Amino acid sequence: MALISSPVIKPKPFPFSPLPPSIKLSKVLNFGHRTTQTHQLKTTFRRQSSSLFDVSNKNNGNGKMQAVADANGTSLEPEEAEQQRNWRRILLSDVVVKRKRQVLWGRKWNALDIGTAGVILAMHTLCLFAPFYVNWGAFWVAFGLYVVTGLLGITLSFHRNLSHRSFKLPKWLEYSFAYCGVLALQCGGPSNVGDLEKQPFYQFVKSTYILHPLALAVLLYAAGGFPFLVWGMGVRTVWVFHITWLVNSACHVWGKQTWNTGDLSRNNWWVALLAFGEGWHNNHHAFEYSARHGLEWWQLDMTWYVVRFLQAIGLATDVKLPTEVHRQRMAINN
Ligand SMILES: [Zn+2]
Ligand SMILES: [Zn+2]
Repeated sequence: MALISSPVIKPKPFPFSPLPPSIKLSKVLNFGHRTTQTHQLKTTFRRQSSSLFDVSNKNNGNGKMQAVADANGTSLEPEEAEQQRNWRRILLSDVVVKRKRQVLWGRKWNALDIGTAGVILAMHTLCLFAPFYVNWGAFWVAFGLYVVTGLLGITLSFHRNLSHRSFKLPKWLEYSFAYCGVLALQCGGPSNVGDLEKQPFYQFVKSTYILHPLALAVLLYAAGGFPFLVWGMGVRTVWVFHITWLVNSACHVWGKQTWNTGDLSRNNWWVALLAFGEGWHNNHHAFEYSARHGLEWWQLDMTWYVVRFLQAIGLATDVKLPTEVHRQRMAINN
């Protein structure tokens, strides 16, 4: 798993962020990608291919695509085919990757990179203490915060509400959920999206960003001592980091393609389970405006159930779903 970078749209501040320096971490929205750039497959491959790996889909089974890019974003010429001997197929997948080397050492680190790496390192270090400072209270605090920050904060707020505008919420609720996302400590936040920068709430959050997770850490320590800190901050944030990262890696490698998206996105049930529905990533690439990612009844999508509930009690409005025309257009045998 540790073998690929996020092959599509939004780079994330993950383990030593394999991002080209030109992509600012402050532009990151996790559990997905920004609306404006989604689906620009070519661009995506070109940008991403200068990161950790080149990604290629040699043959996805139905022959509808062959996407190959090299580090400069140009298509592979026949004489370069020899280089493909270095390419390796990912286990149980039809995706092939080629290792690149300039992730850590051949790049310039700016202050934000270093800060991000510091936070990530600190959280992982906290995790080392987890086996020695465990109790049920700490476990449930971590679990609760995983749901609150991961589901309400990242998938529901940052991704579906703010990034894709899949539904509308009253401001007080929109802000509350966005605040949950800030506590996920994913070094980004929603301040990059569209007109959000003009809203005082998001300006405030952006300028005081790190203070909020810090305040939570202090609160946790006061409530339950070191075990709460280790589990509620360390284990929980690292858990959510890695799940976020899975959406952008595993969901382009393992799983089924239900829609003719012309890219590598897959529907992956086990990522969906961990990531509150975000694993139905081929669905998402097909209908990125949709508030619902798990489109079949059996495609578990916890985030959607919450949105549906909010809609039922009148809080979520303008809830967008795939149209029938669009479904037909995206169908694979179309
Ligand atoms: Zn994707
Ligand atoms: Zn998205």
